[in-house]
Amino acid sequence: MRIYLNGKFVERSQALISVFDHGLLYGDGVFEGIRSYNGLIFKLQEHIERLFESAHTIMLKIPMSHSELTDVVKQSLRINRLRDAYIRLVVTRGEGDLGLDPRKCVRPTVFVIADKIELYPKQLYERGLELITVATQRNVPEALNPQIKSLNYLNNILAKIEAITAGFEEAILLSHSGYVTECTGENIFTVKGKALLTPPAYIGVLRGITRQTVMGIARRFRLSVQEELLTRHDLFNADEVFLTGTAAEIVPVVKIDGRLIGQGKPGPVTKKLQKAFRELTKTQGVRY
Ligand code: PMP
Repeated sequence: MRIYLNGKFVERSQALISVFDHGLLYGDGVFEGIRSYNGLIFKLQEHIERLFESAHTIMLKIPMSHSELTDVVKQSLRINRLRDAYIRLVVTRGEGDLGLDPRKCVRPTVFVIADKIELYPKQLYERGLELITVATQRNVPEALNPQIKSLNYLNNILAKIEAITAGFEEAILLSHSGYVTECTGENIFTVKGKALLTPPAYIGVLRGITRQTVMGIARRFRLSVQEELLTRHDLFNADEVFLTGTAAEIVPVVKIDGRLIGQGKPGPVTKKLQKAFRELTKTQGVRY
């Protein structure tokens, strides 16, 4: 496996980063997770733009242009001869000293890993997922905005640990005021009648690229799509619930906190959206 690191492609064993890198010392950096399907990179420009936006907010100047970074993603896939892949794009503040001061970090660290995609088990999509709400609340946007896809994922990891400890694979995080936000690495949707609902970004969720894609598909199907505050009651009483994310795509949810959702199996709207999403990944995307 060859990894892009600060201007060069190197072997995995040579892809090493300083222990003084502030990405490691403080989680001071940003990242993206991107997918390619059969030789097409899905929503590449959207991911590159989100990376630049995250970096802009934390005042981290990425030492490359949009098109240079786009080229590196394409090259990473070509060099590693990958057609169906998961690409991790990371930019850190770079090497500094032991203090927080980002001015001590002279040059950002940029790396790109392109690897085989580790697919989630098929049963997950056939049977659906069981979730629990955890006590760890989602970061308050006023403190650390979830729109920044930063290297600091401890909030999500703590929630994941709680879910795993309780015997579940995934957790629902609530906002400080008790509204549904998202899962540890996926957005959440409900289907109620002909309406598709998802929490608004301001409540503290990442504006997922899969979320945007699914909202677009649903509108084409003449579903009403709205960003609305949701409570656990709304989840429990939805016809269907599903999660969206680059790695997971669309995952049906069949039980939450012990309550069956709808018929307790993946619903027709979720299935229709999954099918349309898969079609889109086959035809849309950037060739490399
Ligand atoms: N929420 C969180 C917290 C995430 O980390 C992610 C992506 N990993 C998502 C939602 C889904 O976003 P996307 O569809 O852009 O992958």
